[in-house]
Amino acid sequence: MRYQESATESAELLRLILPRIARHGGAYVPTTYSLWYEYLSGVNPKLIAAVDERLKNDRPLTQAEIEHFYAKFIDTREAGALEAYQAGLSELMRRMGEIATNSGAGTAEFARSLAQCQQELSASSDSDGVQRIIKSLVTSTNSVRESTETLHKEVTATREEMQQLRGQMGALQNLAQTDPLTRLRNRRGFETAVSEYALGREADLGGCTVLIVDIDHFKKVNDNYGHLVGDQVIRALAQVLQNNVKGRDIAARWGGEEFIVLLPETPGEGAVMLAEQVRAAFGKTRIKSGGKKEVSDTVTISIGVAEIASGEPLEQAVGRADSALYQAKNGGRNCVRVAPPAGAAAAGHSDDEAETTVAAAS
Ligand code: GH3
Ligand code: MG
Ligand code: MG
Repeated sequence: MRYQESATESAELLRLILPRIARHGGAYVPTTYSLWYEYLSGVNPKLIAAVDERLKNDRPLTQAEIEHFYAKFIDTREAGALEAYQAGLSELMRRMGEIATNSGAGTAEFARSLAQCQQELSASSDSDGVQRIIKSLVTSTNSVRESTETLHKEVTATREEMQQLRGQMGALQNLAQTDPLTRLRNRRGFETAVSEYALGREADLGGCTVLIVDIDHFKKVNDNYGHLVGDQVIRALAQVLQNNVKGRDIAARWGGEEFIVLLPETPGEGAVMLAEQVRAAFGKTRIKSGGKKEVSDTVTISIGVAEIASGEPLEQAVGRADSALYQAKNGGRNCVRVAPPAGAAAAGHSDDEAETTVAAAS
């Protein structure tokens, strides 16, 4: 059982959790409650460490961050299921090995009895003796045939079981890496795809560019039109991203109303053009909300862009893109901002100062 607290202890936790939710401005939803429950009860050390690290900067947690922490540290059911499948596969492998060993033993036994028959045959001088030897030969041949048939059946059944498991595991892996609302990759899927891409480049993402795309004042969309329309807006942005990225580009839902795109081998200028294209295309998307005025007239996006330096870790580049996004928000939203090159802060730029305003609000 994950939670061991008594009624009194859990009531005490409730008393501590509610002010936390209020302080961080999160919604009073089960994800937020679970996050603070696991944090305050001490049941989840990894979550506690991650939240503590994040709280070092004094800003309250956003709902998107809460959902990210929840997905990463609490809702790990798919990961558990994957582990179970992996254990199943490894058990099958073990059984195959056992079958192979047994078949070796059966064949060795047959060879021994053949050698013995051969010896007896050369020593035997009467037909009774020969009859006996033939009988024993027939018996051991039958037994080796039976064991070969059993072996064949077992190998076939095990192979089928293995193929079935592989298929299920692949489907599960896809599910665990796909965001159900938008069908784009989720954060885990993004990280997997980027690692796969980086493998072919000796783990260097230098020369790629990362974009963080965030819907402006999305809270108001939910407040004014309801969550279902909010979801529709999120889906529409995912579609715009999908329509504008191509080939090896990796787009994903980063959390809440935030998306991330990795553009392989794309310098900053090319990435800014794409970001502008996405911003403009989203501006043209029409989203209705059953009778009320069109939602899309009022919804815009801001984008932070960071070109990854050679040897720069992805997380650091994402951090720079995030700072550029923050600048875009401060600069009036509905615009694209580019982060100064990696290392520029040390050379006199502040990381908080995005260097280019590419497009002002229109
Ligand atoms: P800003 O312009 O600064 O980005 O403001 P914002 O209101 O967009 O940003 P904030 O992070 O304060 O709010 C994001 C909101 O997104 C809060 C959360 O309830 C909502 N949200 C997160 N995930 C979903 C979702 O899957 N569906 C819907 N409808 N809303 C979501
Ligand atoms: Mg937003
Ligand atoms: Mg956001």
